[in-house]
Amino acid sequence: MRYDPENNVFWWRQSSFNTFMACPEKLRTRPLVEIPSDAAALGTALHAVIEKDLTVGLDMDGLQVAAYAALEELWNEGVRQVQHGFNTSFAILQNCVFAWAKAEPRENLLRAHYADRLTVEESFDWKVGDVGGTEVRIEGRIDAVEQPSRSSRGIVWDWKTSGRQYETWEHQRWGIQPSFYTLATGIRDFHYLVFIKRVTQEPEVQIVKVTRSEAHWNWLVQQLLAATSYVLSVGFDRPWLTNDHSALCSPKWCPNWDGCKGVHLGPDPW
Ligand code: SF4
Repeated sequence: MRYDPENNVFWWRQSSFNTFMACPEKLRTRPLVEIPSDAAALGTALHAVIEKDLTVGLDMDGLQVAAYAALEELWNEGVRQVQHGFNTSFAILQNCVFAWAKAEPRENLLRAHYADRLTVEESFDWKVGDVGGTEVRIEGRIDAVEQPSRSSRGIVWDWKTSGRQYETWEHQRWGIQPSFYTLATGIRDFHYLVFIKRVTQEPEVQIVKVTRSEAHWNWLVQQLLAATSYVLSVGFDRPWLTNDHSALCSPKWCPNWDGCKGVHLGPDPW
């Protein structure tokens, strides 16, 4: 989320809008610069490896070298260790890279790349409407976009790492990211490629297919305009609405716990 009051433009990213919908006050109080957790570093490193593979093409050794280099660079910049140290993180990353190397979509994506039908890490900045005199836009960067061809109507791809399999129906019903990215591209099919985080077991990926229509996009735009209207009317200096009805409202997962619910319940509330 960012706001340019001089030019009256307001931007939402899907991650900030997701946070806003979960708890508005958590978004208002989020740290400006956050040290990534080991889980975030793992995800970032995997994204870097896939981006490199889909732009220059790598063999198995190349994938492993790229994985180590990407994770080491992030670790040297600073990582907040929540679950795993470097060695375990690298073992999980290696497992994900093996899964990528033999994942069914990889070959199709490489084929699309050679046919000039694939863009990787594609940025977008798209106007969705106006609130009062303020222009409301969505922005972000998409992991990969497979353009339509004679046999496909195109696919928007997003890579995820997860401790367990996704429930497809949840994402079809409520996923904000698929709505954002399909609205920005006009491509209705959105696929998550989910890498199940494991250290030693067989590498595993899951393809989660979500589709979006004009109706989903209209609903998203209505929510974005209402959220912008709320933020602009309350301003950034006074507290926003709070919502503690999720597991993310906890000392572990909310950086604002001590200044919010923690004021009442303390650091060890459960
Ligand atoms: S402590 Fe809970 S209610 Fe307060 S900002 Fe964090 S998530 Fe929201």
